[in-house]
Amino acid sequence: MKPRRFFIETWGCQMNELDSQRMNSQLMGEGILPTRDARQADIILLNSCSVREKAAHKAYSRLGEYRKLKRSRPHLMLGFCGCVAQQEGEKALARLPDLDFVVGPGRIGELAQIVAARTKGRRMVATGFPDARVRNYQLDAISRETTYKGMVTIIEGCDKKCTFCIVPSTRGPEQSRPLDDILREVRHLLAYGFVEIELLGQTVNHWRDPSTGDDFAVLLDRVAALPGLARLRFITSYPRDFTPAMIEQVGRHPNICPYLHLPVQSGSDRILRRMGRGYTVDTYRALAVRLRMTRADLALSTDLIVGFPGETEDDFAATMRLVEEMRFSQVFAFKYSPRPGTAAPRLPETAVPRPIADQRLKRLFALQEGIQQELNAELVGSSQEVLITGWGKEAGSQTGRTACHRIVHFEHDDPPAALGTLTRVRIEHALPHSLRGCRVTPPQTRLAAGAEAGNKAVAGRRELHPLSTP
Ligand code: SAM
Repeated sequence: MKPRRFFIETWGCQMNELDSQRMNSQLMGEGILPTRDARQADIILLNSCSVREKAAHKAYSRLGEYRKLKRSRPHLMLGFCGCVAQQEGEKALARLPDLDFVVGPGRIGELAQIVAARTKGRRMVATGFPDARVRNYQLDAISRETTYKGMVTIIEGCDKKCTFCIVPSTRGPEQSRPLDDILREVRHLLAYGFVEIELLGQTVNHWRDPSTGDDFAVLLDRVAALPGLARLRFITSYPRDFTPAMIEQVGRHPNICPYLHLPVQSGSDRILRRMGRGYTVDTYRALAVRLRMTRADLALSTDLIVGFPGETEDDFAATMRLVEEMRFSQVFAFKYSPRPGTAAPRLPETAVPRPIADQRLKRLFALQEGIQQELNAELVGSSQEVLITGWGKEAGSQTGRTACHRIVHFEHDDPPAALGTLTRVRIEHALPHSLRGCRVTPPQTRLAAGAEAGNKAVAGRRELHPLSTP
């Protein structure tokens, strides 16, 4: 009998990516295999993201396209997953009579049972956030699709009350995973062959061990000390939750990457107050200075929202000044979009007219592009350690990331080095969004302190992992 096949489309952040990997492994555990072609699939899952504009509209329109496939494949099962699914719940089943089930991010771990229930005829809506969601996390059953880094969720949900943000309602209240589970998962990923680990959470630095109360500084120290770990990243840090002890760990462990994503959202205290962020521009600036004093090579990136309700030209000018001053290595800037159930749309001031918000966004990108060009130009002539992440568009080239998360394109040797290994590249050209160079040593010749032995021991094992996808 032909095996059943599934196809997952993933939108949004790294947490969604990891959720898809968890769904992938559950279906494979049931003997259902992945396919890259949705038209061949017996199960299609849309893992949606609700952070910005018209999320529900986009999700329904995509589901509409998949529903057309049901005409020629009546047995096709269609599942609506992720943050928009959490928001829509029962409404989605009522709106789409041939939608088979709805699964929110807090119930991902139940996918196999939900599919089994549907096979017996039951259409389920699995939303909400059971208390056991972090305890029942099946870390051995995650299909690690990314070939170059291992992602580990350490804290689910978010308890902050930023007035623009929908995440607390789509990902539920904060729940931290126990330290021992996290360490076990990181060890598993290192044994699997990853040299880079990324710890994930909406407010990753708000993690606390549920039984001992140990904080993120302790976690960083314990994870960074694991043999075989060449690069440790974490995302997203909340500025107010960064403590001196955490800064100390960033300075102590050379394998903690000198790159931090620290969303500031605005350069105006008035807007930050209205966003409910709980810090001022000065406290953010002081944190950045301390971090940079601890790690001179530290690159900072940030998120910014333009056109937040009531943002004046003066507020926006303050954001532009902050961007000029901070010299972020990357800026992710978004036009404010009102999200259902959040407080910002009810703020007394009027919305910023769309053409003004569009124009501010353009000005911000233009400023940042110039800064990035200058920062990247400073690297020309240097030699950078690069983790190989993929194949370049041009034949014979590969792509990777420096420790500071800059994209580097370089020509590969023959035979090319494996994805997920480290190499050295001499930087020859700088562009605003990437660097170009040529490889100067074979891969895996220089790993971060303490990493050599562990990585050599596991080299080559990645191909054999039973859960890896084709
Ligand atoms: N938890 C992180 C924090 O608050 O620092 C970020 C979470 S969110 C998934 C990623 C980014 O999307 C935010 O930092 C913000 O810049 C942007 N964002 C969230 N809600 C938005 C909205 N309603 N309109 C525009 N951008 C938004």
